[in-house]
Amino acid sequence: MGSSLAFHLKKNGFDGRVLVIEQDPTYELSSTAHTNSCIRQQFSTPLNIQISQYGARCIKDFRHYLGDDPRVPELDIWSFGYLYLAGTGNAADRLRELSEIQCREGVDTQILSPEDIAARYPFYDLDDVLLGSLNQKDEGYWDGATVFDWFKRKAQDLGVEYVNETVLAIGRHAGQGTVCEVIVSSGQSIPCGTLVNCAGPRAAKVAEMAGIKLPVVPKKRYSWIFKAAEPLPCDLPLTIDPSGFHVRDNGGGTYLCGGHDALDPDVSCDDFAIDHDLWETEIWPALAARIPAFENIKLTHTWVGHYAMNTIDQNAILGPHPEIENFLFMNGFSGHGLQQAPALGQGLAEWIINGSYSTLDLTPFYFERLLSDCPIREDAVI
Ligand SMILES: Cc1cc2nc3c(=O)[nH]c(=O)nc-3n(C[C@H](O)[C@H](O)[C@H](O)COP(=O)(O)OP(=O)(O)OC[C@H]3O[C@@H](n4cnc5c(N)ncnc54)[C@H](O)[C@@H]3O)c2cc1C
Repeated sequence: MGSSLAFHLKKNGFDGRVLVIEQDPTYELSSTAHTNSCIRQQFSTPLNIQISQYGARCIKDFRHYLGDDPRVPELDIWSFGYLYLAGTGNAADRLRELSEIQCREGVDTQILSPEDIAARYPFYDLDDVLLGSLNQKDEGYWDGATVFDWFKRKAQDLGVEYVNETVLAIGRHAGQGTVCEVIVSSGQSIPCGTLVNCAGPRAAKVAEMAGIKLPVVPKKRYSWIFKAAEPLPCDLPLTIDPSGFHVRDNGGGTYLCGGHDALDPDVSCDDFAIDHDLWETEIWPALAARIPAFENIKLTHTWVGHYAMNTIDQNAILGPHPEIENFLFMNGFSGHGLQQAPALGQGLAEWIINGSYSTLDLTPFYFERLLSDCPIREDAVI
């Protein structure tokens, strides 16, 4: 998010200095380094659908988007689609409602009966499934690491500076309350006209430095990669199982499964400990029940990352704080932030340069909604 905003500020002609303060230039502990790097159109709010449509256009026209730089690779989306499975009448009704919202936004969502699903994907056990919801346009895997890398490289080409420091404190003007400086780990004071919090799962800690309570907590999310003894006969859509796990094709007979502990407590941002029992006793049995061919697999990689979960409405928090107007937020992405980085970087850059949004109206994501009981809840969180 920090590099996307920095790039978009320069792309849109911002003539001030832009500094990205990053505590870990390896990004080893960031959300971005642990992402599953997928994009979907099947959201519950029209704005999130429009944001992903913008993201898909950016990915598919990436070199042009970055100024026709011949060094920038051409990218595409591996659109195997997301397949949401409903196991109860309520869940089925909700998928039908969501498909109507999505289709109104131009998404190609199809509601499939168990027979339709079996005809396309004969490998599922569908005994407990009432229906599925599938879209295979601009929905699947994309190379998020390359997009991030090029946002950063182009930002630097365009004059953005990066420093390796940890922000430890935020200084505010006496009386006015606006932000005037950050204090970093080397002891330096860095003055600023505008400060943007892009700290991912650590966002609440940074907000706290200015005395602001931000409802964003780190939640542990597991990824497991495995190789199947018998690969499936076609690409596996990113399948969202009613039991809570999701699984998708990862190429070459390998598959990626994601999930979390059923209790799902808030954790420390530095907690990357792996509970191996979770896979053995809960996730794999549920996975093999859904796709019996996955009885016979070899687990090859496991990692843990953190969602920056917005506990109020599971949606982005974007723009200024209502009282500290030069302290801006770009936080709370609740597991769908990577695909939102292009649209939100563009949007917040417009807001900083012009004081308003022009490409997409992102005002529903303002901080005020958290204080005034007007959430815009995103239901389709995986
Ligand atoms: C397992 C997993 C799967 C995911 N899958 C998807 C997906 O398929 N599609 C999708 O769209 N999204 C996905 N996401 C979500 C997505 O990865 C995130 O929303 C996105 O990467 C967030 O980017 P960010 O820049 O906000 O946070 P981060 O990538 O965490 O970056 C924040 C940066 O701030 C730095 N920082 C923090 N505090 C300080 C400080 N005090 N001083 C200096 N620097 C600081 C950190 O070092 C870090 O580099 C997934 C996330 C996880 C964990």
